[in-house]
Amino acid sequence: MRHFDIVQWDDYVRDLLEPADRTAMKEHLASGCQECAGAARRLRKLVAVADSEATYKAPGYAVDYVKAIHPLQAPERVHVAHNQTSLTYDSFREPLPAGIRGQGQIIRHTRYEAGDHSLDLRQEIARGRSRVMLVGQITNQKEPGGQMPDVAVILMSGKEIVARAVSNEFGEFLVAYEPKAHMKLYLQGNRAGRFLSRSRAKSPKGKDSSKAQRPPQRKRRARS
Ligand SMILES: [Zn+2]
Repeated sequence: MRHFDIVQWDDYVRDLLEPADRTAMKEHLASGCQECAGAARRLRKLVAVADSEATYKAPGYAVDYVKAIHPLQAPERVHVAHNQTSLTYDSFREPLPAGIRGQGQIIRHTRYEAGDHSLDLRQEIARGRSRVMLVGQITNQKEPGGQMPDVAVILMSGKEIVARAVSNEFGEFLVAYEPKAHMKLYLQGNRAGRFLSRSRAKSPKGKDSSKAQRPPQRKRRARS
């Protein structure tokens, strides 16, 4: 029995042969040659994989989506009352929300927790704009009502202050900013350490325990 070589089988599975050659090889397979049938089978699998790689193209809406969400990067770190928080919810980790393609706004929800405190953030950006609106709310789960007014909110990129705000009576705050690299968000008590005194053990007069960990934008007061 005359066999066909691998190059011929490669042409066969890719359908590149003259009809007469193709017929001859087809008859050879039909005669029950296991060796050639095996070669043809392996080549078919290989060709199928190669074809699927070559034709794979990210759909246009996915590319648009990735571009649109880029400015909505979550802060690299979020500190609440000097405690680093952990991210417990992120809408961007959900499957692609239905209808996002048609929306003029892209919105990201995140939730951070640290001890008794939780922080909800909503970042949004209009299509084609660079400025991000950040709406947040800080709550204390252990307090009745949980509202946290007068909390200082500072968004930083490296040592630069990108935006700042103070929470209202409901613990809500709003800042608008141009996205920068390596952003960090700090929330800290603004009124005589009120916030701090509830979230950490008091030291005498409540002074020394927190000083070393203040975010870098605070001027150090000379110690007297
Ligand atoms: Zn054969």
